[in-house]
Amino acid sequence: MDLTHNGEIMKDKYERKIEYLRISVTDRCNLRCRYCMPQDGISDKKSHDDMLSLEEIYEVVKVCASLGMRKVRITGGEPLTRKGVSGLIKNINKIDSIKDIAITTNGIQLKEKAKDLKESGLKRVNISLDTLDAEKYKYITRFGSLKDVLEGIDESKKVRLLPIKINTVLIGGFNDDEIEDFVNLTVYDDIHVRFIELMPIGQASEWAKEKFVSNTLILDRFNELKPIPREDESSPAVYYKLPGAKGTVGLINPISHHFCKNCNRIRLTADGKIKPCLHSNQEIDVKEALRSGKDIRVIVESAIKAKPQRHHINEGENVKRDMMRIGG
Ligand code: SAM
Ligand code: SF4
Repeated sequence: MDLTHNGEIMKDKYERKIEYLRISVTDRCNLRCRYCMPQDGISDKKSHDDMLSLEEIYEVVKVCASLGMRKVRITGGEPLTRKGVSGLIKNINKIDSIKDIAITTNGIQLKEKAKDLKESGLKRVNISLDTLDAEKYKYITRFGSLKDVLEGIDESKKVRLLPIKINTVLIGGFNDDEIEDFVNLTVYDDIHVRFIELMPIGQASEWAKEKFVSNTLILDRFNELKPIPREDESSPAVYYKLPGAKGTVGLINPISHHFCKNCNRIRLTADGKIKPCLHSNQEIDVKEALRSGKDIRVIVESAIKAKPQRHHINEGENVKRDMMRIGG
């Protein structure tokens, strides 16, 4: 298989350059966030053999790199629960054309793993944190310890996994009274807090409509937040800053955001499917091709070409996979 990269980034049918691969390395998790996971974890647990091995994931990354992809994000489930993930990062880091490797994590294991991850070549972390109150944290995650996450954030700063982004899902009646506390985190620290609107998928698909609040609430409450120029046109976040603040506040509205036209990503699920679009049920099996010795370059190319122009979630398309199975 010729994996030479000619410097060109592959484009989809709509002339979008696809340069970003998001990899879910597991659908298991060490927390049970109420909007994401059922109390007893995932019900239809897949066998070890149903999941891509780390070597198989690496094969897919190499092919993606040969097609011009430059950014990789490792996610899950909880990616830090997958044994060997820093070895995978180390291997990806050896691929010259991959310029950015990041991870999305709940941060519980960062205190012990941040240093190793940094040494393996990880550039930065996004940490999910929906409340700054220890009791509320325990409630929303069903048993997690806020202290672990805060220590994980400190350790990530210490080993310079920067910039640190905090992902906060805004939930009506749960954390909409903490917006100010989160915004204030950005004042003295180079921390980027991103508020994500709750999506009606996973466990949240059955939640009452009062819990789904619009991100515009944040701008209504903080009129001193001023928009800042977009650094990355493909990012789903729109960024704001308080006057003189070191960090920024990002608003992500996954449902109604208008960034499909700038979307630059595809996703690889832990069970070996490529998802050209987060909000579509279309999946292309790469595991079967890997295991039967087929040319997976053709499969990845076809997945890129299959990327829909935009998602149709507003028009009632129902995403069958839960977030922990897609990788958020
Ligand atoms: N376990 C890791 C974590 O929590 O960061 C990575 C996987 S998690 C599925 C990725 C992101 O998806 C998290 O920030 C989580 O809050 C978000 N998420 C999960 N379910 C969601 C939902 N229904 N609506 C909005 N965001 C959701
Ligand atoms: Fe686990 Fe992340 Fe889902 Fe929470 S949001 S249950 S940490 S996968």
